[in-house]
Amino acid sequence: MIYYVKQMQENRFCDRCMQKTLHEITETEDTIYTYKRKRIYKCTQCEYSSYKRGLRPSAESVY
Ligand SMILES: [Zn+2]
Repeated sequence: MIYYVKQMQENRFCDRCMQKTLHEITETEDTIYTYKRKRIYKCTQCEYSSYKRGLRPSAESVY
């Protein structure tokens, strides 16, 4: 079984800061990665974190 966590950072719009801030992304994947992928976006400014499913980066503006 493969289970790993990778750490990333990305500029994202924070719902609490109401501006683009640097977010820490924790992405967890297991063997059923197509559906069970979870991303936790944590704002580095206010520490507000939200869970989002793994979307393709290009799709986020339409979301
Ligand atoms: Zn924030």
